[in-house]
Amino acid sequence: MDVFVDIDNTICHTNGMDYPNAQPITRNIEKVNQLYEEGHRITYWTARGMKTGINWRPLTEGQLKEWGAKYHELRLDKPPYDVFIDDKTIHTYDWEEGQWIEKFSEPRKS
Ligand SMILES: [Mg+2]
Repeated sequence: MDVFVDIDNTICHTNGMDYPNAQPITRNIEKVNQLYEEGHRITYWTARGMKTGINWRPLTEGQLKEWGAKYHELRLDKPPYDVFIDDKTIHTYDWEEGQWIEKFSEPRKS
């Protein structure tokens, strides 16, 4: 599967836009790494810099490397939004509670 993963407050704790001091959430990084190892294509997708125009790529790449995050692509073009309504999402909190991509692996009911 093609899996898009948010960064801030999904694989790290980030206070507002204080990206340099983001703290990794190791258990979540390990979950994504497991998907990577299982052959899924991992894209980290973040809105870092989308409002300010600041290029956070070097910092973000360094953090992902330092945190041992495995991925295929890093995209910083996620649009800023307040609410994301979509039929193919799992909220971070549900994911942490154990709900995961099994629901998407099943044949879709129409
Ligand atoms: Mg986030």
